[in-house]
Amino acid sequence: MNTLEKRIGIKTATVAAAGVMLAFSAAPSMAQQQFVTIGTGGVTGVYYPAGGAICLNVNQGRAEHGIRCSAESTGGSVFNLNSIREGELNIGVVQSDVQYNALNGIDQFADAGEYEDLRALFSLHPEPFTVVARADAGIESFEDLVGKRVNIGNPGSGQRNTMELLMEEYGWTMDDFALAAELPSREQAQGLCDNQFDAFVFTVGHPSGSISEPVATCDAVLVNVTGDIIDDLVEANPYYFHATIPAGMYNNEEDVSTFGVGATVVSSTDTSADMVYEVVKAVFENFDQFKGLHPAFAVLEAETMVSSGLSAPLHEGAERYFEEAGLL
Ligand code: GLU
Repeated sequence: MNTLEKRIGIKTATVAAAGVMLAFSAAPSMAQQQFVTIGTGGVTGVYYPAGGAICLNVNQGRAEHGIRCSAESTGGSVFNLNSIREGELNIGVVQSDVQYNALNGIDQFADAGEYEDLRALFSLHPEPFTVVARADAGIESFEDLVGKRVNIGNPGSGQRNTMELLMEEYGWTMDDFALAAELPSREQAQGLCDNQFDAFVFTVGHPSGSISEPVATCDAVLVNVTGDIIDDLVEANPYYFHATIPAGMYNNEEDVSTFGVGATVVSSTDTSADMVYEVVKAVFENFDQFKGLHPAFAVLEAETMVSSGLSAPLHEGAERYFEEAGLL
């Protein structure tokens, strides 16, 4: 046996001994290990690091609860919602408007019907609807997108959902654009800078690399999304609000006015209350660490996160933790 083998031999013995000790101290054995998968969005957005942040907190406590958490990059809100419904994801990050529509079986969820088993865990950061244009495209307002080449988002994403709703409200069809591209969020910055289109839309938390990248590499600009139609939408729907992307967040000298939704974390009654309890507890018990994991989380407040933008009932496991923590 060489030195390395000896060392491995010793390690194996130590691990085996530790395993016996763990079994006797009633900590979870390998057989009890459970997996939780969180659906997020494109890797350059905020959902993906948000899922990573949740999992980091969960995995820190694995020795006690035995849950192994992983965050998956996906096509976004609508994809996550549908995958939870099909039992392929346990938890997902979804826009507050998507949560509302799925619960009530309206708009893109009309065929699927009401989703009675949908449950909310907590809300995260605000997501202003963000329009980013090439500086040379002559786009100064949302209405200027007519006749232009626009990336309207991949099917399954929250921005595509919001964009389709806006197109309906403004009376536009795909034919009103010179081109309607469907690239996912991770490809839209490059597409804009390569002059494949004049503008893209992204419902995302700020600051986000997906916006700072095209601003830095090809002088892209942010565009206001305002007017009577937007005012009416905000007035009529509890999950929309007026939003501002403050001056200086990117290269913008002035505040950018738009409207937004909230990012929310959801699951279904198919995911056990004990598992959801551990996930929620891991986030809120290490809240300062969690907030520090992405600059878009700087605005988070625990008291607001238990209700803001949540249309579905709280998951039993989330409710149990919030009650224990005095947050409800
Ligand atoms: N809001 C987007 C969606 O629902 C995702 C944003 C992000 O990736 O941070 O698809």
